[in-house]
Amino acid sequence: MEHLVRSCYKQGGYVFAKKAANLAGDGRVARLASNENPEAPSPAAIAAAQEAVRTANRYPDERVDVLVSALRAYYGNYHFVTGVGMDGVIETLIRTLVDPGDKVAVSTPTFSFYGIAAQAQGANVIAVRRQPDFSVDTAALIREGKDAKIVVLCTPNNPTGNLTSFEDVQTILEGICGMLFLDNAYVEFSGTDYLPLMRKYENLVIGRTFSKVHSLAGLRIGYAFVPAWLQPFYLRAGTPFTVNTISAAAAAAALTDKAHADRYIGQVVTWRKQFSADLKYPVLPSGANFVMVDVTPFTCDEVVERLAAKGVLVRSCRSFTGLADHYIRVSIGEDWENERFIKELNAL
Ligand code: PMP
Repeated sequence: MEHLVRSCYKQGGYVFAKKAANLAGDGRVARLASNENPEAPSPAAIAAAQEAVRTANRYPDERVDVLVSALRAYYGNYHFVTGVGMDGVIETLIRTLVDPGDKVAVSTPTFSFYGIAAQAQGANVIAVRRQPDFSVDTAALIREGKDAKIVVLCTPNNPTGNLTSFEDVQTILEGICGMLFLDNAYVEFSGTDYLPLMRKYENLVIGRTFSKVHSLAGLRIGYAFVPAWLQPFYLRAGTPFTVNTISAAAAAAALTDKAHADRYIGQVVTWRKQFSADLKYPVLPSGANFVMVDVTPFTCDEVVERLAAKGVLVRSCRSFTGLADHYIRVSIGEDWENERFIKELNAL
């Protein structure tokens, strides 16, 4: 019966990081493969989730008012949409805008899900190569963006870690004819703020997530700043009751615990420097809660396997289209995890 499956799903798909449960032995494992905050969620978020579960017999509020109000209180009077992780936001945004055959231009190498979601919508996905140092090829992106429905740019970029400047993002916004989707999953770690662009451009969507800085990856909650005109169409394209009551309550409460987020941001800033200082291998500049490391003369898969055998999980970059096979991506974890990673990588 497999002939019934759509051709875009016959191969490929999202590549997941190795899981601690896949490793032999029952020792402590340093989990540095998925860019998670190693700290448990804020007690405020846990309490709000526990309270919200009592009302789980009812459907959620379709406007997700508890979360949207919290986002407005935190950021100001922007227009927001929400989704099941930023993955959900990406999928719904593409469903809202892309007809079969439309062009979607993606600054590459980068996070794979944009291409997967766009292809599922019948888009013509064009990878626009970054420069050898992984900075964005602004001119090429604008060239491809002239007739693209959506241009996708991730900053800080996954997996390379580098930032695109505010000015370059502005140049791209002015040069393209369709929408720019700016993926800011890691922006809290970067010290850069692209939000002023929201006030000026009608063709900008900024995606954000509670999975990283707010320790809520397991609750799957993402959101985006959107121009006012787009919001009603996004809501029409989304599945009814997209975000569940418990996730929405936890996310709203997480925004009130700034100290929780700041602790991890401080940890990230400290350890990014430490990785550069202590590793025997080149560490690429990063504005995210991970770094990409050039492990030449090894291949990425070789290093991932050998570190896993030592109880350290990191991400092979092999699955990122357009990247040579000698890079690994390593999240900033707890002190002992980072220390073990440095020790074991240097010992290879
Ligand atoms: N964008 C980027 C760049 C990411 O790295 C991720 C998570 N891996 C996402 C979006 C999706 O995040 P979420 O957990 O909110 O779906």
